[in-house]
Amino acid sequence: MSNTEPQPQESTCGGTADVPAEPVRELLFGRDVVLGGTRQMPVVRTLPNKHRRMVGAWCFVDHYQGDVSMRVPPHPHTALQTVTWLVRGEVRHRDSLGSDQLIRPGQLNLMTAGRGIAHAEDSTEPAGSAMPMHGVQLWVALPSAAAGVEPAFAHHADLPSLVDGPVSTKLLAGTVSGVTAPAGTYTALVGAEVSFAAQARTELALEPDFEYAALTLTGEVAVDGQELPYGPLLYLGTGRRRLQLSGSPAAKLLLIGGEPFAEQIVMWWNFIGRSHDEIVAAREDWAAERRFGSVDYEGARLPAPELPISRLVPKGRVR
Ligand code: MN
Repeated sequence: MSNTEPQPQESTCGGTADVPAEPVRELLFGRDVVLGGTRQMPVVRTLPNKHRRMVGAWCFVDHYQGDVSMRVPPHPHTALQTVTWLVRGEVRHRDSLGSDQLIRPGQLNLMTAGRGIAHAEDSTEPAGSAMPMHGVQLWVALPSAAAGVEPAFAHHADLPSLVDGPVSTKLLAGTVSGVTAPAGTYTALVGAEVSFAAQARTELALEPDFEYAALTLTGEVAVDGQELPYGPLLYLGTGRRRLQLSGSPAAKLLLIGGEPFAEQIVMWWNFIGRSHDEIVAAREDWAAERRFGSVDYEGARLPAPELPISRLVPKGRVR
């Protein structure tokens, strides 16, 4: 997915100065953005948030739902991994490595941009119609040591689950209660979807050194006994060894977490860099059709927006 803001601002993320050393509950309300398509697709972006930029290495959370079509022409990424997670619908992914992959609910697409990759994503409904789409697009920032790795794409159709009666916790990334996802990541992090087949509660083992956040995907969900409404991302802080979750029949919740991301980074449009100059170079390379390769696609590439005039340097998390 591409950041489709017409005038994206450069933002700085990372650093541990504002990571609480204890459990907290902060509701991070998202802002509405629009994703391109034959019908504009409503998206709520809860990360980066003006009150909190990252949760572990997770640096971008777009949650979308509606009768829409998704049309995201070829666009570039650097120094991050994209995590595509669907609740409903079907999306075709194509990238500059030659990957051409359908993804369905419960499957994981993990694209490692590293030094640079381009991809396109389109929902698969018949031309001229729309389909019920529901999903989450997440980005994971790569640490300096991996920011320039060769690009890669992985599709994981069968993910491991932790089963507790009617509650199934599917691992997108990392480990929960001894169950480990196959996704290759570069920092200590976790992503999991908790599904309730009936009204039930469960308890997950957490890493006290990780910070966590939860997002309701469907139904009624409670986190530590308190309802988490559809919409905001609930930031949970650190210092938790377990988390109680309950849900209504067919409820789903997404849990993300990880070691606080100590490095400072710059995010702009679809790029992550260590400096403003890296962002400028990535933008120039995309415009000049260098570095990112090309995607086999019926249609034009997305042009990069104009860079803002103000220049940012990486600094600590801004709350
Ligand atoms: Mn993308």
